[in-house]
Amino acid sequence: MKEIFLCAINNILSGVCKEDCKFCTQSIRYHADIERYTYKKIDDIVAEAKIAKSNGALGYCLVTAGKGLDDKKLEFVAKTAKAIKAQVSELNLIACNGTANKEQLKYLKESGVDSYNHNLETSQRYYSEICSTHSWEERYETCENVKSVGLDLCCGGIFGMGETDKDRDDLLHSIASLSPQSTPLNFYHPNPALPIKSRNIELAEALDIIKKAHNLLGEDRLLMVAGGRELLFTNHEKEMFEAGANSIVIGDYLTTKGIKAEIDRDRLKQLGYQIATRCSTD
Ligand code: SF4
Repeated sequence: MKEIFLCAINNILSGVCKEDCKFCTQSIRYHADIERYTYKKIDDIVAEAKIAKSNGALGYCLVTAGKGLDDKKLEFVAKTAKAIKAQVSELNLIACNGTANKEQLKYLKESGVDSYNHNLETSQRYYSEICSTHSWEERYETCENVKSVGLDLCCGGIFGMGETDKDRDDLLHSIASLSPQSTPLNFYHPNPALPIKSRNIELAEALDIIKKAHNLLGEDRLLMVAGGRELLFTNHEKEMFEAGANSIVIGDYLTTKGIKAEIDRDRLKQLGYQIATRCSTD
């Protein structure tokens, strides 16, 4: 029976980013109507990690808004990781904190972080259309840094931001060139405040992307459908898993609501899938 891996995310520092990524409500430039806060209380994050674990999450991702890590943010993520590892067993900890150098990543690894998530977002060619404040190459370099310090790499992107079919293929090939352990596929969720006004992707194209990603990345990797799942795959979950997805994000996303974890768990059961209980596809 096919196993599905569940992952949960926690936005531990939200909505205070100076960068101009046109798909992101956390940029302060677009004044999107989202909750914004600096450092969440570590005790609260640990309590939320316990809930995610009890909902079946094997992966738990600590996300901070902003271009990358500075000393204060690094220390905060490291302390949070240590607190979670001390109090919640068998949870794969993923940090997602933007651009990072090798020293910072080594420190996170020593603090209990297992994987680092950094997405390429779109193709190298299209990237300048969606962001002008940092480069695609810088993103790629952070992904290489992740691998060089021995952290697992989680690397994916966003589809439906106005890119062409060729951009989609190029993005998938660039992701595959990094051979990540897991790949989140996000589908753009339009917000009236953002410069990218609509999503140019339909269900059939999204399924095709999952199939291509599955073929390129291989059976033994985690292929996660993350943001935008509800918009495209509600009542099409079986097709999504049959196309090659083997992982989903449960609960809320960074700034948008997700499906309640119980509903996802019931749906997986109805479809005849098992919820994975250990974090490996071996
Ligand atoms: S750097 Fe990250 S948090 Fe900042 S605007 Fe871009 S995607 Fe959003």
